[in-house]
Amino acid sequence: MRSLEYFYEMSPTDPDQIHESDLRALFRAHGLRCTRQREQIYTALATTTSHPTAEELHHIVKDSEGGLSLATVYNTLEAFTERGLCRRIPSASGSGPSRFDADIADHAHIVLDDGRILDLPHDLGEQIASEVPQAVLGAIEARLGVRIESVSVQFTARRVQRD
Ligand SMILES: [Zn+2]
Repeated sequence: MRSLEYFYEMSPTDPDQIHESDLRALFRAHGLRCTRQREQIYTALATTTSHPTAEELHHIVKDSEGGLSLATVYNTLEAFTERGLCRRIPSASGSGPSRFDADIADHAHIVLDDGRILDLPHDLGEQIASEVPQAVLGAIEARLGVRIESVSVQFTARRVQRD
């Protein structure tokens, strides 16, 4: 069994730190042609931790990229997801829109009752991962005949008023 590790990118990437040449290399490494629209969409996604929907991303990008259609955003996110540049988070209810995350490192999500998604802080995620009982994991492997490679945890929560 692989060790359970969590990696978190707690702060969104600073847009100034995303260079065009880096993006081109990143896209090339994932077998994608670099276009201006893809750059804009990826940058918008990589610089937020809000786990936006395609519509939210379209809203963010369309001002700087006139003529960008929602369909293009959907198709681009599809391509990013297929090539491992981002991950799609299906809506918890199954009926809402998917959300997207450019942080492809293993990390846990907290789904709020209004559909928004928060990243679980790194230290807490590590704590949970380290406290998953090895005996239980071993029992799951033995009983189901599987080999557990990673454990992902998802929480659902609602916001509470703080004093
Ligand atoms: Zn996330």
